[in-house]
Amino acid sequence: MRRRDFIEGGIFLAGVALSALKPAAAVPDPSRWWLKPVRLFHPNMRESELRGFDTGRFVASCAATNAGGIVVSAGGIVAFYPSRVSYHYVSPLLNGRDVLKEVTAQLHTAGMRSIARVDFSKARADLFREHPDWFARHSDGSPRTAGKYYNVCPNSPYVGEGFAFPVIREILTGYDVDGFHLNAGGFSGHCYCANCQQTYEARFGSKLPERIDWKDPASKQLVAWRYEVSTECFARLQNEIETIRKDVFWTGELAGLDNPTWARDKALDIVRLSRSFSSLMSTVDNAEPYPDLRWVSGMTASYARSVGERPPIINLKVSMRAAGWAHASMPPAEYAQCAWQAIAHGAGLKMPTFGLAGNIEDERNMPVIAETLGVLKKHAWVFDDARAAAPVALVWSQPTLELYGQDNANARYADCVYGFHAALMENHIPTVVISDEALTSGQLAGFRAIVLPNLACMSDEQARSITEFVRGGGALVASHETSLYDAGGNKRTNLALAEVLGAEYDPASPTTAAKSAYMCRRQLHAITAWMRDTSVLPFSGRITPVRPAGVAAVPLVYGYTPSLVDPEEMENPIRTELPLLVANVFSAGRAIYLPCDLDGFYTRGRLDDARRLLGSAVVWALGKVPLLATNAPAEVGVVLSEKPGFTFVHLINTIGGRPLGEVVTVRDLQFHLPIRSKVKTVRALLHGTPLGFEARDGLIRFTVPQLDAYEVAVIEKTTA
Ligand SMILES: [Zn+2]
Repeated sequence: MRRRDFIEGGIFLAGVALSALKPAAAVPDPSRWWLKPVRLFHPNMRESELRGFDTGRFVASCAATNAGGIVVSAGGIVAFYPSRVSYHYVSPLLNGRDVLKEVTAQLHTAGMRSIARVDFSKARADLFREHPDWFARHSDGSPRTAGKYYNVCPNSPYVGEGFAFPVIREILTGYDVDGFHLNAGGFSGHCYCANCQQTYEARFGSKLPERIDWKDPASKQLVAWRYEVSTECFARLQNEIETIRKDVFWTGELAGLDNPTWARDKALDIVRLSRSFSSLMSTVDNAEPYPDLRWVSGMTASYARSVGERPPIINLKVSMRAAGWAHASMPPAEYAQCAWQAIAHGAGLKMPTFGLAGNIEDERNMPVIAETLGVLKKHAWVFDDARAAAPVALVWSQPTLELYGQDNANARYADCVYGFHAALMENHIPTVVISDEALTSGQLAGFRAIVLPNLACMSDEQARSITEFVRGGGALVASHETSLYDAGGNKRTNLALAEVLGAEYDPASPTTAAKSAYMCRRQLHAITAWMRDTSVLPFSGRITPVRPAGVAAVPLVYGYTPSLVDPEEMENPIRTELPLLVANVFSAGRAIYLPCDLDGFYTRGRLDDARRLLGSAVVWALGKVPLLATNAPAEVGVVLSEKPGFTFVHLINTIGGRPLGEVVTVRDLQFHLPIRSKVKTVRALLHGTPLGFEARDGLIRFTVPQLDAYEVAVIEKTTA
């Protein structure tokens, strides 16, 4: 599979340095247990908990979580075994014991796997004094630190023969562990150490820039290089592991889509990293940095699942650590709904505590861990080898996040994706999140529609691929500055998708942003048929000035009111000719273009009109494609998956505020969806009850009488 090269024009040479490294097998091998959704419990042991550590009690507490594997503190900052590797700090509290060995043996006896947690991201002051050249530096030469520790540079020998490799060899040859979990890999912000300066200069023949400055074209090269270094670092560790022992599980903590800032600081791109791990693992923390990204756990799971082509892992910390409360639980209802979303989208789970069960102050999420991992365990057949069943692909573009988002990436880009994804979920339109790389890798053939929320940076090849998709009968929905920039982040003179979208970029227009504006009806159209009692919708945000081209219709235009005036003087909004919604028929397909960031507006304002308009745009573009219909409230997530003989309708109840405080039970949810085969039975998986149904003409109707937090309607089909 081709990996990304997101800076064009010969500046960035994709995969050159990586080509020497053997990628992990892309073909699923049934003997690899991580190719089914995993159930991992991760008690982060504190060094002080070594005092009087009771291995039997520890293993019993792990077994109570229904986990199949336990992430065990092993080495890096503190060695929990008698390591002989230089600089490896062996805890004096071990007192001659080998906790890693004891725990691994007893976990195996109890039927659980032992995953060694290692951290090669930081080290102690004594090592910093001995090897100052191994550590990350600010551009003024001062070391990057985290508390009392010093951050290590991923370009340094510490993450190779200097330290990490000997630790990996010692653990793999001396201990019967089943895998590794790497904590905090990648950069810790921009590094200006001597190693980085030399490596960069050798590669590009120019000096390492002191910081990322988007006004300087060299910064694009720097950003791409940082991603490359991080990826190589993970791949080197993977290579070392696989050289010693085949089939060792290997994962590391990545940022979920909720936290692009973290991903960018550490230069972690899920697409690049998908072959550098056994399983992609992403942390989702729904209390920070956004408290209201309701669907981001499932969104991240769906993205990592499609990018990696195997089940990823969603890492859900029991406490609100990112928000500052490492010792207070995430509200259990919120914690659970993140887990239900993740497994519905095909992911496994890892659930970390900070401290051992029995010693932590707030144990309210321990029952949630046991419950969610228990469902994955008891009903494994529903989740193992299931595939998403969705006609719509929504595209996330890391190059757009970086090269277009620049210093304001959430507001400029990520908010658009969050908003459109939320609108799709809240209109119950089954959707898979894919990467921009999938646009040119033949994967579009499995979808009926693609949604591009402000996908600004687009290569000519991607534009051609999308054009052919629509020409062949596919549906396209795009917003704001989609295709207005090339793959290198340089602005084009016209939209690369102008012909398909039926709109030409018009830079002469004075309007590019609007506050308290209106989307005003200009002509009747099926997309706006739901606007029965209004001819205007509210909007504030950015506008891409365009004029319609060809046969495109313009159902909505920009309207404004002159200024805030008293009621006596309030005139109706003034309509302009500037399109805010363009509907086009292109060959056998349909395209909708919203030349504004209505999707970002939905993230910012959560006004229901935006949800309805975004949903109806996708439905119109899909034309005659039959879709799921339901009376479920918008905040009940519906996720479809399938395997031979079965369709699964996952229902995730998120009704309520953010983060979710309680579960509001809903009743009598009716579903009406297309089904290709004859239906044998329908039943509610968790309640264990059969559901009445009616199936004819390729459609099935059934009712779920009660939904608490989560349920799966299992549709069993006749395979004959
Ligand atoms: Zn460095």
